[in-house]
Amino acid sequence: MIKFFIHTFGCQMNECDSERVAGILSGAGGVPVDRLEDADVVVVNTCAVREKSEEKLFSYLGRIALLKRKKPLRLGVVGCVAQLRGVELVGPRLGVDFVLGPDNYAELPRLFGSPLQERFVSTEWSTAWRETPPGLIRRESRTSAYVTVMEGCNNFCSYCVVPFARGREKYRPLPSVLAEVADVAARGYKEVQLLGQNVNSYKDPETGAGFADLLRRVSEVDGIAWLRFLTSHPRRFPAEINRVMMERTNICRQVHLPLQSGSSAVLKKMRRGYSREMYLDVVTGLRGLIPDIALSTDIIVGFPGETERDFEQTLEALRIVRFSNIFSFRYSPRPLTRAADLVDDVPVAEKRRRLAAVQGLQKTIQLELNARAVGQCQRVLCQGPGKKTPELMSGRNEANQVVNFLSGRASCGDFVTVRITGFGPYSLRGEEIAP
Ligand code: SAM
Ligand code: SF4
Repeated sequence: MIKFFIHTFGCQMNECDSERVAGILSGAGGVPVDRLEDADVVVVNTCAVREKSEEKLFSYLGRIALLKRKKPLRLGVVGCVAQLRGVELVGPRLGVDFVLGPDNYAELPRLFGSPLQERFVSTEWSTAWRETPPGLIRRESRTSAYVTVMEGCNNFCSYCVVPFARGREKYRPLPSVLAEVADVAARGYKEVQLLGQNVNSYKDPETGAGFADLLRRVSEVDGIAWLRFLTSHPRRFPAEINRVMMERTNICRQVHLPLQSGSSAVLKKMRRGYSREMYLDVVTGLRGLIPDIALSTDIIVGFPGETERDFEQTLEALRIVRFSNIFSFRYSPRPLTRAADLVDDVPVAEKRRRLAAVQGLQKTIQLELNARAVGQCQRVLCQGPGKKTPELMSGRNEANQVVNFLSGRASCGDFVTVRITGFGPYSLRGEEIAP
């Protein structure tokens, strides 16, 4: 019996992949363990999007190398860094025994029955969709299930390593998406999150049906109370998606729409394919049909050549749109990308200042938005006791905000009605009221 431990760096796509990796290992007879120290096999699922994520990986590998001196242990690196660095990771320097790219997880069962010393590397791309039977996936959450609808990205934004680390776009056949959604609904999941780097470019390989069709069909599967999707690209965000969202009440009124920069000049250098005005038009279109829609975004500060004026335009865009949440990053040059050839000319201290300014402004906006929620009754999907406040239950509302609340009876997976009584910049507080 092999005991395995998975450590995941990065985004929801990686969390979702780790659930597949865990499923494949369990299906081959492995047993998951909660502590690194108890494992015979450690799989590290990696992120290459920013330099910092790679740095964290190497310090983590150092920690495992120490453990390897004390006990027999096989160490594998999978995901984006595995794909990009491949064979250079393997060997005594880092202590890595196997490396698998995102298309090669089906090879994990090689670990069973092979000698401890065997090393292997597999980073071949496949053009076909690789199916993992839904029953095999070991989901972390008991309330919300990730369902991948596409892999890879064709956009080649100038700063982004994803097209190199995850390959070109591949779309999952619509019947297979529907089958997995039906499977998770039957297992009692209340929420489904459809995942892809660029979901609005989805095209069913058989029929050519686009993302709006997919969204409608998924929303019609019995038992799915809440449906979310990410990430949408602001370029070619079809009005059809807005209409489906308006018509289907189980699609959450919430969209993650990465802006990256509020300056059209910077967006052009980023090769995002839209201008500031086009982005704002998409927002106007969404809010025209669904006025209370919650929008979140990603922002990069300090892209090469970003002037103070460009940066001010990003702040201005935040003031105009008033996002309910943002993820903000300092630009970091990534290998193979076009922007890596540009001079990274915004000094680190200045990038830090701009990041702090973005986050400070956004905090003020969120405090203002959250203050308005006080007194409202919101539907919340309960995820169990809060991590920091175990005396309260914790869940998410339709806008995907964390809500911590007092309750005598709610348990994980329940939908509850919560009266909002307090707020911070990043969460709401409240109390459950009788249904
Ligand atoms: N597909 C999504 C999109 O179109 O925006 C995003 C995928 S990426 C994994 C997540 C976020 O990381 C991006 O939206 C961007 O803000 C950030 N990011 C990507 N490359 C970056 C870089 N080189 N430096 C800093 N942030 C970066
Ligand atoms: Fe990266 Fe751009 Fe593709 Fe998003 S759309 S994954 S930022 S290349």
